[in-house]
Amino acid sequence: MSKGIWVFIELRNAKITNSSYELLSAGRKFADKLEQDFTAVLFGYNIESLTDAIAQYGVDKIILADDPKLEKYTTDAYATVLTDLIKAKQPETVFYSHSALVKDLAPRVAERLKTGVATDCIGVEISDDGQFKFTRALYAGKLFNQVYSPHARPVMATFRPNALGVEDPSGVRNVQMEKVKVQLNLENLRTLVKEILGKVQNKMDLTEAEIIVSGGRGMKASENFKLLEELAEVLGGAVGASRAAVDSGWRDHSNQVGQTGKTVSPKLYIACGISGAIQHLAGMNSSRFVVAINKDPEANIFKIADYGIVDDLFKVIPLLTEEFKKMQA
Ligand SMILES: Cc1cc2nc3c(=O)[nH]c(=O)nc-3n(C[C@H](O)[C@H](O)[C@H](O)COP(=O)(O)OP(=O)(O)OC[C@H]3O[C@@H](n4cnc5c(N)ncnc54)[C@H](O)[C@@H]3O)c2cc1C
Repeated sequence: MSKGIWVFIELRNAKITNSSYELLSAGRKFADKLEQDFTAVLFGYNIESLTDAIAQYGVDKIILADDPKLEKYTTDAYATVLTDLIKAKQPETVFYSHSALVKDLAPRVAERLKTGVATDCIGVEISDDGQFKFTRALYAGKLFNQVYSPHARPVMATFRPNALGVEDPSGVRNVQMEKVKVQLNLENLRTLVKEILGKVQNKMDLTEAEIIVSGGRGMKASENFKLLEELAEVLGGAVGASRAAVDSGWRDHSNQVGQTGKTVSPKLYIACGISGAIQHLAGMNSSRFVVAINKDPEANIFKIADYGIVDDLFKVIPLLTEEFKKMQA
């Protein structure tokens, strides 16, 4: 097995995701430490112009699969092309960001390669014997475990967005570009994406946002989420919701944070009128700072909050928005 670290670059709306930049930042450092080649793998259609931005992160190689059949993600096409590439090139390690797409893709690739995949990792270190050791959160973040793969190759892992952090690009090295000829038998592609329809309530993807302002049942009505949208706008963040708010029809399910929603780890999570049920905490308790606004001083959310405001959110949120606006001005 030849050595080498690969990162799978993901696109959303034809742009490289922030979590892909995290992989690029971390991957270069690991490759230097292990003295291995560092490769970025990019799939899509008409995407060659994106390779300039990738090259800035000091990759040794970019594998580019630029083909109309890869324009929109389908399980069969992506899993086939990626599996074939890994079989042919035999990298030692493949990293992905833990997105909805990768949750579908990585386990399939792992199964076809008869290897494992450490999912939703929130940390990673290299042991003295050169093994990657991944940290994962279990039981809604109550427990952490460390996993590693002593034998199966490639080592594969998916990282929770914001877990690794983006660093400034380390600069272009002598990058080699490999354009892959995509060979797919159309008869083996069981799905064809014709159109993507989506309700967009957030300009920013929740899982990628560095700041999230989330509302729960305490928001009382759909129209009151305007307060959160205003605060999020000022802070450059996105709006999330508890399941109670989603079940009440106030927000789309794509906004739901928690066990049956999205897992987020922003730098700042502002929970407004959210009690802090274990299923909600499961989706946000790896946030760097948590601010809770709740009129009940006994609310569970205060147990994990770094800052708590015990008051009526309808009074506090407009004040916060005003203050942040003043600071920015
Ligand atoms: C299998 C399963 C999966 C689940 N998955 C999820 C999930 O993914 N995400 C999720 O969120 N939940 C999930 N739940 C539901 C979860 O158990 C809770 O019911 C839910 O999180 C409660 O939402 P909430 O905090 O908004 O509502 P509540 O628990 O009703 O809390 C509302 C809070 O608002 C406060 N409040 C009210 N008015 C004001 C005001 N004017 N100012 C300030 N504070 C105010 C109250 O004091 C209260 O603390 C799941 C449950 C199950 C069983």
